[in-house]
Amino acid sequence: MPLVLDGKKLALELAEELKVKVFGLFQRPKLAIVMVGDNAASELYVRNKLVYAERVGISAELIRLDKSASQHKIFGTVAELNENDSVHGIIVQAPLPDRSCQERIFDTILAEKDVDGFSATNIGRLCNGQRDCLIACTPLGILTLLAKNNINLAGRHVVIIGRGRIVGRPLSILLSQKFENCNATVTLCHSESRNLAEIARTADVLIAATGQPKFVTKDMVKEGAVLVDVGISSVRDDTCPSGSRLCGDIDFDDVYHICSAITPVPGGVGPMTVAMLMRNTLQAYEKFALRT
Ligand code: NDP
Repeated sequence: MPLVLDGKKLALELAEELKVKVFGLFQRPKLAIVMVGDNAASELYVRNKLVYAERVGISAELIRLDKSASQHKIFGTVAELNENDSVHGIIVQAPLPDRSCQERIFDTILAEKDVDGFSATNIGRLCNGQRDCLIACTPLGILTLLAKNNINLAGRHVVIIGRGRIVGRPLSILLSQKFENCNATVTLCHSESRNLAEIARTADVLIAATGQPKFVTKDMVKEGAVLVDVGISSVRDDTCPSGSRLCGDIDFDDVYHICSAITPVPGGVGPMTVAMLMRNTLQAYEKFALRT
């Protein structure tokens, strides 16, 4: 039977550790979440972040802007939060209604407060091998989930499907770094990759971050591989009271008997992403406290 990597349980355990650390601080770390518009998926993600922050004792403030908010207004809001010394971490919840300015807004957040790790500065620091930079939460969550389950990536072939800005690309950089539990040989695939199934079958660890429901099937998986499912899609399901359910990028039932370990959706990578956001907020606070 494969090991099911339970991110929900681990995130709750990490919450207890974070809570103890936060309790011992002089001041409560503060996270500001800027949300533009009312995207249904974002509402759910933000709610989960607020609940987890409350659990660990981090003060989280949600700043809602109307979906028609101008770029000027969004940039102004981030600039004020950058200036505010009582705010230690800032995130702008993606996707923005106007995606054309998303990258520039991520880059406007001070690197020291960029707890999502999306800014060019933090991505650059990660590329340069600075382990103490703020690292994107989903990649960091995946690494932590694997490490806590004694899955060491050193020397192993990791194939990542999806080169997105938030998951696949920073993950490929992180896992190939000379950091503890990393040192993997990484192949990064995307929609233009040829012979994708063939490449995927060479993976000791296969990570899917495409947003394509049930994209990975057993013909793409080597016997004994570790499978990490990042994708979250809402698919129609008339057997559910809501008429829909969450579905990952990996066809769980199809691959279950071939792999050695697998993350479920929901309850795998998602909760770890939230846990790492709070860990990053604590890290940002600790660095702030050292400077002042
Ligand atoms: P993006 O849209 O930025 O990236 C998707 C990537 O998948 C792209 O690189 C794209 O290739 C690739 N892709 C799409 N279709 C195929 C295909 N048929 N074959 C090969 N590659 C393909 O998405 P994100 O990285 O932001 O998110 C990916 C998924 O992860 C989504 O479902 C999202 O909801 C989920 N997610 C989950 C999180 C969690 O905490 N669990 C956190 C963040 C995201 P190309 O570049 O060529 O277009």
